[in-house]
Amino acid sequence: MRIVLVGPPGAGKGTQAAFLAKNLSIPHISTGDLFRANISQGTDLGKQAKAFMDAGNLVPDEVTIGMAKDRMAQADAEGGFLLDGFPRNVSQAVALDASLKAEGQQLDGVLDLEVPEDEVVKRIAGRRTCRNDSSHVFHVTYSPPKEDGVCDVCGGELYQRGDDTEETVRRRLEVYHSETEPIIDHYKAQGLVVTISALGKVDEVTKRAMEALK
Ligand code: ADP
Ligand code: ADP
Ligand code: ADP
Repeated sequence: MRIVLVGPPGAGKGTQAAFLAKNLSIPHISTGDLFRANISQGTDLGKQAKAFMDAGNLVPDEVTIGMAKDRMAQADAEGGFLLDGFPRNVSQAVALDASLKAEGQQLDGVLDLEVPEDEVVKRIAGRRTCRNDSSHVFHVTYSPPKEDGVCDVCGGELYQRGDDTEETVRRRLEVYHSETEPIIDHYKAQGLVVTISALGKVDEVTKRAMEALK
């Protein structure tokens, strides 16, 4: 199964992707997590991406598309993928369509997570991320770790992402509206989009998502 998750920053894509990927037995591929792993390992790719991420802008397609394709090529052997944070503009969507077509494959669905902007801001302001693995995500009030500042999953240190500041979030929301939202129409034209509300408890949203993907 090949699924794309779309939604504004803080919608809960990473949180939902972890559960959905498990339920559907497909790998969760987050380009944001891949970039952060490259940054913490000090790779050239990480160095190329960092300034764009810190400013809340998209990392250029030349860097992003190659990285995503490399990871998707591995996912072929894993039964498909759940893409989180890719594609994030129409040219990435076109590149994804072309590379799937070349392999005789197609997407099964695009899940669009809808959340009001004031909720997104609250979710991002309280988000705490694990230094060891940025797919381990908590929230100071909505899903606090058992021990303050410590990741439940791996014991790593929890921190607030540098791009989770109020100013950068505003920029990321602008980028979402201008660059990412157009991919929803791109995929609507292919009849692939299902939209669900991402409000409510995490497990309620997962249930809604599983229903929508049936
Ligand atoms: P995204 O990947 O879309 O940026 P995350 O999955 O990182 O979003 O979630 C953003 C923040 O909101 C995290 O702190 C997460 O714990 C929290 N969160 C996710 N889903 C919910 C939910 N249904 N209710 C409340 N908080 C949530
Ligand atoms: P969120 O879901 O909270 O917006 P992500 O972890 O998905 O955060 O992305 C963090 C940052 O990584 C983005 O603001 C952007 O700079 C970069 N990034 C992630 N995915 C892409 C992509 N597909 N294209 C360009 N930049 C990306
Ligand atoms: P290292 O420093 O370990 O050689 P890199 O940063 O060069 O790591 O690369 C990490 C991964 O990202 C590799 O899979 C590589 O193919 C991919 N990659 C690196 N640079 C680019 C780029 N400009 N465009 C697409 N993929 C890239």
